[in-house]
Amino acid sequence: DAKQQGRSRWSEYTDVLERQHARRVAIEERLRLTLQSGGLTVEYQPIERQGQPGWLDVEALARWEDAELGCVSPTEFIPVAEEAGLMTLLGEQVLRAALTQVHDWSQVTGHPVRVHVNVSGGEMKNPDFARRVSRILRETGCEPAQLITELTESEAVGDVQPVLRQLNALQALGVRIALDDFGTGHSSLSMLEQLPVDSVKIDRSFVQNVDATPRRRSLLSAMLRMGEELGVQVIVEGVETAVERQVLDTLGVQFVQGYQVSRPVPATGLSAGPHGLTLAPVARPLARNSRN
Ligand code: C2E
Ligand code: MG
Ligand code: MG
Ligand code: MG
Repeated sequence: DAKQQGRSRWSEYTDVLERQHARRVAIEERLRLTLQSGGLTVEYQPIERQGQPGWLDVEALARWEDAELGCVSPTEFIPVAEEAGLMTLLGEQVLRAALTQVHDWSQVTGHPVRVHVNVSGGEMKNPDFARRVSRILRETGCEPAQLITELTESEAVGDVQPVLRQLNALQALGVRIALDDFGTGHSSLSMLEQLPVDSVKIDRSFVQNVDATPRRRSLLSAMLRMGEELGVQVIVEGVETAVERQVLDTLGVQFVQGYQVSRPVPATGLSAGPHGLTLAPVARPLARNSRN
């Protein structure tokens, strides 16, 4: 009867909650161990610059393959790290690994390779953040201009003052700021107005099927003009197909990132060309990712 049905639906519901909780606890435990042993790795996805195919910036993306849990996506473990108070440690490990890597690449290519590193809202609100970044830049021998910190707009919402303080301190160092996942939050324009950003990364939802969606194309075009007006560089993320790419090229998009250019790859998957990194098949491995 209805009552019984209600009860069984309830127990299904509590089962789901229990499983979710168990997963979360397991991730927290295993992640803590992984961070203690420096077992997190980093992959790199190139950002292509129009008209300069040999020249590439990269975005560093945290990767975790656990002995018990297998591969866990950052979309799952980053929020857990944040809640469990592990984000400072995780963020520092990614930053150090990424800067060590681009320092090696810069030595090999003779060009100051630039790396984008994602920073969570919690990290960016920490009054010590900019100082820590400065220390890691010194330790790894990178120039501040080689680092772009990516902040997701929705994470800056709320009290922007603490975030603003860190962003200003970072810019004073010479580190650049990108607004990530632009256009998906509830206050994109307000964030763009309030925060001192050097670039915006337009979320991939604005790119999907842009070739068959005139309204989407108009929106993209308007966002590009907005970037120009504000003197902010525009990077378009999540470009998957050749036709999407064609539309972006027609619109005059300068910076493109997505599977169409390359998936995120381990450091050894990017090789050195005469003018920087290229996507040519690996002729020789660069620095091994010894430190992570
Ligand atoms: P994000 O910063 O927006 O990074 C881009 C995400 O889109 C990456 O997912 C990347 O693999 C994926 N992507 C790139 N090109 C394409 C494409 O053409 N199509 C599709 N469908 N996806 C594409 P990933 O690596 O799973 O990371 C997810 C999110 O986790 C990142 O989104 C970022 O916000 C967060 N994250 C990753 N590493 C870190 C980290 O070290 N620290 C922090 N705080 N967050 C991180
Ligand atoms: Mg990002
Ligand atoms: Mg991000
Ligand atoms: Mg993004």
